[in-house]
Amino acid sequence: MKLVFATNNKHKLQEVRDILSDRVEVLSLADINCHDDIPETADTLQGNAIMKAQYIYQKYGVDCFADDTGLEVEALNGAPGVYSARYAGDGHDSEANMNKLLQNLTGENNRRAQFRTVIALIIKGEENTFDGIVKGEITEEKRGDSGFGYDPIFVPEGFSKSFAQMTNDEKNSISHRFRATEKLNDYLNRIYE
Ligand code: IMP
Repeated sequence: MKLVFATNNKHKLQEVRDILSDRVEVLSLADINCHDDIPETADTLQGNAIMKAQYIYQKYGVDCFADDTGLEVEALNGAPGVYSARYAGDGHDSEANMNKLLQNLTGENNRRAQFRTVIALIIKGEENTFDGIVKGEITEEKRGDSGFGYDPIFVPEGFSKSFAQMTNDEKNSISHRFRATEKLNDYLNRIYE
């Protein structure tokens, strides 16, 4: 079966293709010639994931899924959350986002945080959502240079390395997106048994 993943992010495509069973061919937006700036103006992760998947389904009529991820910091009442990509402004600049977050946590002892991913799937018009969470802590400074986004300042529970100090395989075996994608995979396996 073919499923369009509403992204062109190479990291995400690779991660998701590795997890989903071989009978699912995951196409990117580029593969369907979609170069639109897909709106994501909802105020929840779930709302944004559904908005993106619905956009593709309505315009192209193909089975598809979309994801939205946020970093939720306890001491900041869940911020940056759904606004994680634009935390330090519209530039989507990861360095600036991390600097702002570290700045806002200066002197804060409660460093607890979680990454949360919501995936919205639409098959033949029917909508389902799956979520995945990884709990952890925000570091005092950036560590490591692999991965992307907020990886250098997030240490998952039970580990001493940040996501950016892990190999792709290590990160991908515990990440929020892995957990949400596993639920998506289980669902697809069930309906296509
Ligand atoms: P998006 O929903 O994937 O666009 O991500 C929203 C924000 O969270 C962006 O700033 C991403 O860089 C960041 N983000 C998403 N996934 C990860 C991750 O696995 N590690 C670190 N940051 C991430």
